[in-house]
Amino acid sequence: MDKSLYEILFDGASPSLLTEIVLRTLIMFLLILAILRISGRRGVRQLTLFEVAIILGLGSAAGDPMFQDDIPIFHALLVFLTVILLYKLITWLVARFDTVNKLLEGEPLVVVRDGEFAVTDNNTSSFNKMEFFSELRNVSIEHLGQVRMAVLETDGTMSVLKYKNEDVKYGLPLFPDLYKEIAPTENVKGPFACMFCGNIIEFLPHNIVCPKCKKDRWTIAINTPYP
Ligand SMILES: [Zn+2]
Repeated sequence: MDKSLYEILFDGASPSLLTEIVLRTLIMFLLILAILRISGRRGVRQLTLFEVAIILGLGSAAGDPMFQDDIPIFHALLVFLTVILLYKLITWLVARFDTVNKLLEGEPLVVVRDGEFAVTDNNTSSFNKMEFFSELRNVSIEHLGQVRMAVLETDGTMSVLKYKNEDVKYGLPLFPDLYKEIAPTENVKGPFACMFCGNIIEFLPHNIVCPKCKKDRWTIAINTPYP
């Protein structure tokens, strides 16, 4: 070991370099937050975007000085301090201003209302319907007709309000065996469910488009109660 402990901790630390580190950390942290926010809320389950940004920001600062001998430990410490100050500042802003909270974390999204999907292509970009199917199946929902309201929370979890068993109506089946497109010519009995938005219609004339979402894939609706 050629270096003294002082060099390992502080080597080359000049005021302008230290200011630069604070500035770099600030920029990188905001960049990470922005990228996470743009990439959509799904895929970051349980952790809020903010926490992920901190983990990413600190992770590299903590790891790099461990094996890169040209990085003095004081630089990493400075990154930590800057991130923690930012964290304090932003949590204070979030608690104080609702708009900051919405900007950072997004808002809860109503995905099902009265047994049909409430989201269409128009009002969401970060929403994956197949993932949502899986979320509902996880809480033993067999079809949308069992759901009065479902809300996608900002942390990626799903809150589901079910209908009482006697109020369950016809809905789009969510399990693969029944979620199958039917040909318009087939002589099958309805009601039918739009495979995209869960809209229910009684009869299925040839090539009908869904009045709600303008798609044209239909499956047979079911109204099974809970087991
Ligand atoms: Zn539809």
